[in-house]
Amino acid sequence: MQKRRIAILGSTGSIGTQALEVIEANPDLFEVEVLTAQNNADLLIQQAIKHKPNTVVIANDALYDKVNSALDPLDIKVYAGENALGGVVENENVDMVLTALVGYVGLLPTIRAIKARKHIALANKETLVVAGELITQLALENRVDILPVDSEHSAIFQCLVGENINPIEKIILTASGGPFIGKGKDFLKNVKKEQALKHPNWDMGAKITIDSASLMNKGLEVIEAKWLFDLKAEQIEVIVHPQSIVHSLVQFEDGSIKAQLGLPDMKLPIQYALGFPQRLKSDFPRFNFVDYPNLTFEKPDMQTFRNLGFAFEALKAGGNMACIINAANEIAVDAFLKDKVGFLQMSDVIETCMQKVNFVKKPVLDDYIKTDEETRALAQSLIA
Ligand code: MG
Repeated sequence: MQKRRIAILGSTGSIGTQALEVIEANPDLFEVEVLTAQNNADLLIQQAIKHKPNTVVIANDALYDKVNSALDPLDIKVYAGENALGGVVENENVDMVLTALVGYVGLLPTIRAIKARKHIALANKETLVVAGELITQLALENRVDILPVDSEHSAIFQCLVGENINPIEKIILTASGGPFIGKGKDFLKNVKKEQALKHPNWDMGAKITIDSASLMNKGLEVIEAKWLFDLKAEQIEVIVHPQSIVHSLVQFEDGSIKAQLGLPDMKLPIQYALGFPQRLKSDFPRFNFVDYPNLTFEKPDMQTFRNLGFAFEALKAGGNMACIINAANEIAVDAFLKDKVGFLQMSDVIETCMQKVNFVKKPVLDDYIKTDEETRALAQSLIA
């Protein structure tokens, strides 16, 4: 395999830091070309000193001087501001872009990267949720691979290797159920962020951990799967699997089901995407069936966890509906993390936005940008 030069958007987050561990363990295969961060200047500087990228971006302008004065002597180019993200991914020295940003902010840089014909290792699921049709079309036109990093989608992607001629009957996305599995509304109405942030299996960033507790994460993943694997809503099933060992499954038209299994460790799907189609040797801990004598599966409780149902509604509605859900959810989660709304109210905010924001059946990029703005404003007004 030729050495791949990687740009990591969001290098200081959970996925970004684990990606750097994967790269460090495979110095003959990967090289860090670009690192970017939103606010964590200290870690960004440390990472840049260690991995020696050509370029770094600190999205928060106010931190430019700090980062630049630390890295300028090392001959590392430093840029600031959200707009710089779109520019650095176009650099001719970049082969692949790992989008590990959180939320809608991933959309525009991903579009720029695809247009510049960079392969995408996609950890920023919101990009496909917001504008899946646009992104998949652009990827096709520019002959760019979109390699999923999300563990469930990586599992499905792995199950599909060698199956090009065989249509998918359906996929089964597994969900851990999060920390509140089995709880009812009476319990959930009083839960605080400290409880919601304690995920039983996965160690992740704050936004995705809350999404996981509310099943919004699984809802976003349903939409992500639709676009990655070109599926209809009826072909996507969600099953709760609290041990997070079976990462997802594909059923083919002969009824056979393939699954991908492993311990819950994001480094494996990150490495698979960066090294695709090769499986690189790793020293990650191995799964042992004897340690998990009970792998269990149950139906998700969509009455209590309404967000999952919203995602299926969005698939049926099409247009900008998933963009509305995403923006409303980003505002709701942020408010929950600031103790401004209750856990169950997050779904109320999303539902109201779905009903009230202007629906666009055939959106173009500008419509997505407007929808995102309009939804955020409405969601904020519902919370304040
Ligand atoms: Mg996932």
